[in-house]
Amino acid sequence: MENKQELPILIAGGGIGGFATALCLCRQGRQVRLFEQAPEIKEIGAGIQIGPNAFYIFERLGLTAAVLAKASLPQTLKMMDGITGEEVTSIPLDDAFLKRFTHPYALIHRADLHRIFVDACAGLPGLEVITGVKVRGYTDLGDSVIVHSDQGDHTGSALIGADGLWSAVRSQLIGDGAPRVSGHIAYRAVLPTADVPEDLRSNSMTLWAGAKTHLVQYPLRNGELFNLVAVFHSDKYVEGWDTHGDPEELKFRFRDAAPPVKALLQKIDSWRMWVLCDRDPIKNWSSGNVTLLGDAAHPMLQYMAQGACMAMEDAVVLAEEMGRSDTSIADAFVRYQDRRYMRTGKVQMSARLYGEFYHAAGVNRELRNQFLQARTESQTLDSMAWLYNGI
Ligand SMILES: Cc1cc2nc3c(=O)[nH]c(=O)nc-3n(C[C@H](O)[C@H](O)[C@H](O)COP(=O)(O)OP(=O)(O)OC[C@H]3O[C@@H](n4cnc5c(N)ncnc54)[C@H](O)[C@@H]3O)c2cc1C
Repeated sequence: MENKQELPILIAGGGIGGFATALCLCRQGRQVRLFEQAPEIKEIGAGIQIGPNAFYIFERLGLTAAVLAKASLPQTLKMMDGITGEEVTSIPLDDAFLKRFTHPYALIHRADLHRIFVDACAGLPGLEVITGVKVRGYTDLGDSVIVHSDQGDHTGSALIGADGLWSAVRSQLIGDGAPRVSGHIAYRAVLPTADVPEDLRSNSMTLWAGAKTHLVQYPLRNGELFNLVAVFHSDKYVEGWDTHGDPEELKFRFRDAAPPVKALLQKIDSWRMWVLCDRDPIKNWSSGNVTLLGDAAHPMLQYMAQGACMAMEDAVVLAEEMGRSDTSIADAFVRYQDRRYMRTGKVQMSARLYGEFYHAAGVNRELRNQFLQARTESQTLDSMAWLYNGI
């Protein structure tokens, strides 16, 4: 029987959010036990974008060099009209951007970012990672929490649900049912850059915005790999993720796309499919010694490219609040969510709006293009300051 004073903090979920939290808490000298349902610690997925706000987190955690060693730094963020093929707007990621936001905008393979956190955690004396354990629920006893899993019970001083979009911890804590199915589907693929036509290999994060569709392209791993994300509207799918996509459906959805978009889509035979879901923001995601973090707390559509960035910010704020000497865990959890819910809620809601914006059709599309083209570079940077200036 463990002594209650020495009970570990339990974390459900070993994604980017779970490992970032484990790292922050173990560095405070705490005991942490992390449960991951997968049989081994291995991230899947494709590329992700990381805004300058994430680099404030990397700086604090001493991970900037490790991230820069794996990331690609694009020269521009470009938006193209996916139907006419014309450029709508282009944001240079140059000295002015760096001066404004201190840190760069980067592109990284999700597996590489996850590995950076896992490696940073390796050898931390307080951390125990247990794989192949699916958390099913918990009992909060006030001064301790019992986690119930498919492999039996574990007792800890607190529980942090970092178990993603379909969080079992959230299901008990909030009880707000399944996430909202957006009706947007993402097909993702990563291919060798050598397979991409030379004239389409720019060092940019390029978004081709079409009617109810868009395609994102960018380089990864120093230009060796090329990331593609194709998104379209469909009510055909209700839930599920990471299953195989159907290239024929993609061809149909992008039938009106400009030739470069069609040329890129043709390069891929095998797509992974995600049914994109989110939730409305909530103000309260803690109860007693149990809280949520990352997608479990505030799942968002990917249109702001911020889900992983928000999970990492959560981890640092949570650890800051728990690190105060004058606090109980329950109070620290409340202060953590109070510091986070407005910012994460703003990203959740903005992501929905960006989705509408990217997928505008007809006159709305023309109005969008006109609006973006009329903005000066400094107006564009100003509009991002609330997010990219970090926590
Ligand atoms: C198409 C797409 C593009 C994206 N692009 C970006 C981007 O450019 N930039 C960005 O910042 N974000 C992006 N995101 C979002 C980002 O991937 C997520 O927000 C981020 O991974 C959330 O991290 P997390 O640790 O909270 O959850 P997850 O990554 O979902 O990790 C949860 C972990 O918990 C485990 N788990 C789940 N349930 C249980 C259980 N019951 N018991 C034990 N373990 C469990 C899972 O196996 C998983 O390992 C994108 C998402 C999508 C779908």
